[in-house]
Amino acid sequence: MKDHYEVLVIGGGPAGLAAAAEASRVGLEVALVDEQKAPGGQIYRNVSEAKNDAVNYLGRDYFRGQKLVSEFLNSGATFINDASVWYLDERLATGLLIDGSSRFISADRLILATGARERPMPLPGWQLPGVMAAGAGQILLKSAGMVPDGRLVLAGSGPLLLLLAWQYLQAGVKIEALVDTTPDSRLFEAISSLPRALPAVDYLLKGLTFMRAIRKARIPVYKNVYGLRAEGRESLESVCFNLTRSRAGNRIKVQIEADTLMLHQGVISNIRLPLASGCKPVWDALQQNWKVGTNKWGQTSVKQVMAAGDCAGIVGARAAELQGRLCALQLGYELRSIGPGQRDILARQLNRSLNRHLSIRPFIDKLYAPGRAYQLPDDETLVCRCEEVNAGEVRQAARMGCVGPNQVKAFTRCGMGPCQGCLCGSTVAALVADETGTTMEQVGYFRVRPPFKPITLGELSNS
Ligand SMILES: Cc1cc2nc3c(=O)[nH]c(=O)nc-3n(C[C@H](O)[C@H](O)[C@H](O)COP(=O)(O)OP(=O)(O)OC[C@H]3O[C@@H](n4cnc5c(N)ncnc54)[C@H](O)[C@@H]3O)c2cc1C
Repeated sequence: MKDHYEVLVIGGGPAGLAAAAEASRVGLEVALVDEQKAPGGQIYRNVSEAKNDAVNYLGRDYFRGQKLVSEFLNSGATFINDASVWYLDERLATGLLIDGSSRFISADRLILATGARERPMPLPGWQLPGVMAAGAGQILLKSAGMVPDGRLVLAGSGPLLLLLAWQYLQAGVKIEALVDTTPDSRLFEAISSLPRALPAVDYLLKGLTFMRAIRKARIPVYKNVYGLRAEGRESLESVCFNLTRSRAGNRIKVQIEADTLMLHQGVISNIRLPLASGCKPVWDALQQNWKVGTNKWGQTSVKQVMAAGDCAGIVGARAAELQGRLCALQLGYELRSIGPGQRDILARQLNRSLNRHLSIRPFIDKLYAPGRAYQLPDDETLVCRCEEVNAGEVRQAARMGCVGPNQVKAFTRCGMGPCQGCLCGSTVAALVADETGTTMEQVGYFRVRPPFKPITLGELSNS
């Protein structure tokens, strides 16, 4: 590992791996840093270590990552693994936490491929032991082959929930119930985007395969659910929710005994490092998501910084990979390792493929738009779990005159804990916007400040 590289890629998911491999191919000196031990990001987590029989429960899409990982590992790019980026500034000074020590490196250009994280789903009881994010369940499955014991309920909305249900079924896990919070009306809203999605019909077929498997396994599926909550004294004991049986509004209360509840309502861009490097965020109203603004080459508002993949808007793994390659080609052109003609020829095919993969997005984004109830929880629901601030306190701060998350933070401490607002940021902004009658775009986002990952004073001084 050197102190300076021509190109530094942050994030070893599909976008970062493809960007690093492609940038190396066009002759640039590249390093890629990721906090995971092995390359792969979220979707291809641990794929280089996965046993062959894991294809039976993780699926072929997961194993597709092996090709990309080996392309990256053979590309000549340096892989700085197990390294968290805890500091980044507008001069592109990058602080890494490696093996208990802090170390700074720099680069002429940065490609940010920091991906996405799950959108928080605050509901009564979500802090009880036994309640966790569906993505966390999947991380345990991919990295350690671990599955939940006891009575499992999956709840929420979005493709990842269906995928996890399918993966658990293939792994022999018993699922007590799938509780779908997607309102029935969403399908009608999304249907107009279906014709545009036809070039990506394989995504639709995949979704149908998951649903068929769930039906075949006779898992009770509750649809159009509202009022979801987790109940228990010391830990989760049951999952409760309401169903509307008819248009007349007859309400049915359901209670399912459970040991584990996994929640999911889509993913949002991980933009803290992009913001730290000075990139302008853009509000995507359809995805209800702050993302890094980029052009078709992945250039951001900062000349030396490019962004690809889910941090620049939720696009999915295949599109993320293609965006990573486009970034690298543009960098090759800017740093004079390839000419404009070669860049454009190589980019043409990538763009064709990218358009196909992106064509599914409006349908998915409309169908699985986040539920209002889980963006605007009841007053008693905990919003900031680090500092134990509930939705009522956030609303009260907004009524007192706080116009955005940063003022709410000063008055209530929400967002000041170890996760630095990762888990509460989007909910706090939604609550303030709702209470003050403004928009998410107007209220903005928590200001970002290092450390972006927890680092002890000992580690900091251990440089
Ligand atoms: C929990 C989770 C599970 C998912 N599982 C699937 C799945 O099974 N199938 C599927 O189709 N899609 C899945 N997705 C969506 C999928 O991850 C994305 O569509 C796709 O992988 C995006 O690729 P990317 O390269 O943009 O980012 P990612 O794959 O998310 O990669 C980003 C990388 O950046 C690294 N990183 C971020 N911040 C730092 C930092 N400060 N320091 C060091 N490294 C950092 C992360 O460790 C990560 O490896 C999942 C998303 C999440 C959040």
